[in-house]
Amino acid sequence: MQHFQSNTAKPAFHRRLKISCVLCAVAILALPGYCSVAKIATADDYSQGKAALRSGDYAKAKVCFESALSKNNNIEESQAGLLQTLRETGAYQEALKRAQEFLSARNNSAVLHLEQGRILEETGEYASAEKNLRQSLILALPGSAIRLGALRELGELLEETGKRNDALPLWNQILDEYRAGRVRGSQSLGDVAAAAWHRGDAQDAKDIFMDATDPKNGEVSLEALANFGYLFLEKYNATDALGVFRDCLKINKTYPRALLGMALAKKYENDFEVETYARAALAVNSNLAGALNVLAELRIEEEDYLSALVQIKAALIVNPANLESLSLKAFCLYMLGDRAGFSKIEKQVLAINPVGGTFYSIFADNLASRGKYPEAVDWSRKTIALDPELWAAYVTLGMNLTRIGDLEGGRKAIQQAFGGDPFNVWAFNSLDLFDQMDTFVQSRSEHFVFLMSKEDALALSSFAPELAEEVYANLTRRYGFKPSGPLQAEIFPDHAGFAVRTLGLYGLSGALGVCFGKVFAIDSPHARELGSFNWGSVLWHEFTHVITLQMTDHNIPRWYTEGLSVYEEHRAHPGWGDNLTITFLEAYKAGKLMKASELNTGFVRPVKPEQVMFVYYQAALLCEMIDEKYGFEKIRRSLLLFAENQPAEDVFRETLGLNAAQMDAEYAKYLDSRFKAIASHLYLQEPEKTSSVSSKEDLVRQVRTTPDNFRANLQLGQLLRKEGANSEAEGYLKKAQQLFPQYVEAGNPYELLGEIYLESKREDDALAQFTAWSRVDGDSAKPLLKAAKIYRSRKDWDSTAKMLNLSIFINPFDPDIQRMLGEAAMESGNWPLALAAYKTLAGLNTSDADAHYDLARALLATGNKQEAKREVLRSLEIAPTYRKAQQLLLKLSGGINEN
Ligand SMILES: [Zn+2]
Repeated sequence: MQHFQSNTAKPAFHRRLKISCVLCAVAILALPGYCSVAKIATADDYSQGKAALRSGDYAKAKVCFESALSKNNNIEESQAGLLQTLRETGAYQEALKRAQEFLSARNNSAVLHLEQGRILEETGEYASAEKNLRQSLILALPGSAIRLGALRELGELLEETGKRNDALPLWNQILDEYRAGRVRGSQSLGDVAAAAWHRGDAQDAKDIFMDATDPKNGEVSLEALANFGYLFLEKYNATDALGVFRDCLKINKTYPRALLGMALAKKYENDFEVETYARAALAVNSNLAGALNVLAELRIEEEDYLSALVQIKAALIVNPANLESLSLKAFCLYMLGDRAGFSKIEKQVLAINPVGGTFYSIFADNLASRGKYPEAVDWSRKTIALDPELWAAYVTLGMNLTRIGDLEGGRKAIQQAFGGDPFNVWAFNSLDLFDQMDTFVQSRSEHFVFLMSKEDALALSSFAPELAEEVYANLTRRYGFKPSGPLQAEIFPDHAGFAVRTLGLYGLSGALGVCFGKVFAIDSPHARELGSFNWGSVLWHEFTHVITLQMTDHNIPRWYTEGLSVYEEHRAHPGWGDNLTITFLEAYKAGKLMKASELNTGFVRPVKPEQVMFVYYQAALLCEMIDEKYGFEKIRRSLLLFAENQPAEDVFRETLGLNAAQMDAEYAKYLDSRFKAIASHLYLQEPEKTSSVSSKEDLVRQVRTTPDNFRANLQLGQLLRKEGANSEAEGYLKKAQQLFPQYVEAGNPYELLGEIYLESKREDDALAQFTAWSRVDGDSAKPLLKAAKIYRSRKDWDSTAKMLNLSIFINPFDPDIQRMLGEAAMESGNWPLALAAYKTLAGLNTSDADAHYDLARALLATGNKQEAKREVLRSLEIAPTYRKAQQLLLKLSGGINEN
């Protein structure tokens, strides 16, 4: 997910750069201390234990503290150090045993009561934990670090168990101490910052955390630093959270809370490293409930509820009262249809915390990521009813309202969130986006509402509705399904805005479009390098989602809805949608492609960026296999079965007669049938794969010994063409093309052969190259324009218009192309297309008298005399002596008078 960085005057919550630089310095300054073996060796056991604990050498810390205790050195501190070591590594039972043992001999120790309280919290014995923490408060010296720590810990426990009003005076006590100037040291300042945070003063919290984690004020507390990160996480500010957690890990690379924080921040970014970090945290503390919950959530995202329940069970064994684990368990049971089990846990959670909204917000979040926005909205409303100050819930509510088309309702909810918590990055970004969308123009076609920027509307308001209605007619007929509306198409002029719109959803930064069911959003051609992608095919893809999501009530595996979208792109126009590439063939050859049964995981959490690219194509191939071998009717039938909420395995067993293993086998066979021959022409094992500077002699030798070597043929052809040896080049280029017809990168055989043929006046051959090229590369306007040029010179207006019209889906903002399109469409009698082209041209070139004149003609031809008259007048305003326009005006005036 990407965050929209705004530079408007609204308060933003960005961590100042200063701090990360300072913290880097800390890590460097601290290094000599760690490295100096002599120093550690001479220090006493307690100090060694402390240093080892801080640096994450937990085994050594334990040995040192035990050793100090055996020598009766620094007894109370060593006991506390040992308990902290055991707690951080998740040895809770041992920690409890030792705490009781220590306290039986030292019952007046504030720090030991604090430690025991913290351990009991981890195991869910909240009432006993409260007792210990309160005892610690009684025993601790006024203003001491122990007292502040106990206040914070108790406050957090009270909030967790729904006693926010009881926590409030504790936060005030901490802040009073701070205001009185009695708080010193990183750890205690971190406690003050946490108090300000819980009081809702995020700005104060941030400022104090900055002080707390400033090394100029002494050694930085890991706990304060980690808590700072969690503050950023709460505000959905993954970037700054990651910065703080990384700083934390520079001091202690195995600090479990920082590793967990990294996992949570990566989750916002939908990064595959979520699992890596959660497992790293568990490697240090296998009982870390938060990390087990993260793994459960990953399995939930993959719709693997049974595996999620295994993780949750492990977390609940450690802490049977962990509210997050219980909520996740309830969600899994709910999704598995166990309503009784769900209600039982709901009661249990509300008994622990009667006012906590987390239980329901977990439902809202997870339902939204399954695409079930209306249900998510209901759960958000429940969350807010229970906890009206859970501002994050308003953001979720607002975002999901906008996804179901209620922009105003969504905006209102997010405004409420922002009012309550101005530091919530998602709220801030979304409001910024709404401001941007206020400037959008709205237009309608029969089945769609369009929202786009004024700049985009110049061209897209003419071409997008036409295409949208075409795909609507095409797919509603094929699938026998009419989606419910209003269907809303949003076209974003910058990718940041688009990313905010899609935030919270599968946030692939490479994504060009997103569909929420009735509402879909796409990047406009302006959002990327102009002419670099086909917005028409993206629109086609997103509308296919409208069909498959609505038809299945969003109960469709991710791979299937994506696969069908790309499959429909392929059907729409040859060349549209993901296509075969060399890297794909390389992955195929190396056996690195995913099995059919692995595709869903590939979508939910791709392991490598290129997997994202492969997975779409792979999913489309699976759909093509089903269509080719079993017939389209099976696809339609499978969607109806998904609508009944049947599991994928059952659906495909019923429709195709295949279980998962058989489907994997069929798919593997299908991939072989498509790619085995072509992949054998790549000769990847040969050295020329890496050295692109093979000499001519080398290439000649390679072509002679391996005539089916694609690369050698291509490179030799390119080289000869460069040398001007066109007739020699031709043979090698043709051979390369025949070996791998889908190759369309720069210097591809179509391009070079086309040029060679043009130069040698073989126009028909050139045209054949350009049209063939356009059929394998839907993202390049080049072949279309080259073909159009030839057709135009032959006055083949129909074909010219067809080529130019397709190029508009790649770049609609070139006035020259629009002019030629208008001309060709008009000459071939396609007046609606001529009208679209001239309308765009007149919008792009407002002072072009010809454009307004031609637009007037097209308007007249399509029966709109009034507007035609207006345009011809505009033309004459620009060029008062323009004869053709004068004549047209006369004709129009006469015509109007006649009526
Ligand atoms: Zn898609």
